[in-house]
Amino acid sequence: MRRKVIAGNWKMNMTPSQAVKLVTELRPNVNNPDVDVVFCVPSIDIVPVVEAVKGSNIHIGAENVYYQEKGAFTGELSPEMLVDAGVSHVIIGHSERRMYFNESNTVLNLKMHKVLEHGIIPILCCGETLEQREKGITLDFVKEQIVEAYVTKEQVLHTIVAYEPIWAIGTGKVATTAQAQEVCGFIRTVFEELYDKETADQIRILYGGSVNASNAAELFAQPDIDGGLVGGASLKPDFADIVNYNK
Ligand code: PEP
Repeated sequence: MRRKVIAGNWKMNMTPSQAVKLVTELRPNVNNPDVDVVFCVPSIDIVPVVEAVKGSNIHIGAENVYYQEKGAFTGELSPEMLVDAGVSHVIIGHSERRMYFNESNTVLNLKMHKVLEHGIIPILCCGETLEQREKGITLDFVKEQIVEAYVTKEQVLHTIVAYEPIWAIGTGKVATTAQAQEVCGFIRTVFEELYDKETADQIRILYGGSVNASNAAELFAQPDIDGGLVGGASLKPDFADIVNYNK
């Protein structure tokens, strides 16, 4: 039985003081024993938020990382810096980073390997545009994103995937449970081809795209959906209702 993961992606929202206020309010309400709770937060919020969640079950993630150890890479953060600050997870290849910062599958593969070397759990995002869905190339496109970004058999079980159809992110337009399950189930078969069935059965695959407290239970009840990556709805105290989707 795979444990659920429910991760918030705050994107470029929340000043440090707003961030501390939100996690302080949320921490007593996100104690679902069936769920790993992760907040992926802006870099500047990491240190105060790690301090504010100490002693709770909340994990803190970053939204991005660089694939070099150190050096002349102005503006970037290394995996070592993230680990030292208390980060356990990092989002890799969110569609906004692919789109606005030109991150390719090749660069994402370097990031995947580098964060795993440092013991950070990558949450690799994949997902198609509306145009690709309408052309009927969703599965081929998602498969390419997974195959090109992925890692070795020894490392794969320390990773999480998030299927996020771009047309459902921040639009209020959630994929139907059937659409979400179809692609998450397909991703599992890609892992079976790349590794083996036992490995594929253990990898946690999340759905992301306008998840909220009303649709979470149905989405997370699908056989291949092991939780969610939640944007807008993770910025409010009601996020606790998503974490407690099964209560
Ligand atoms: C996201 O940013 O990863 C996301 C899924 O956003 P939203 O939940 O707002 O659609």
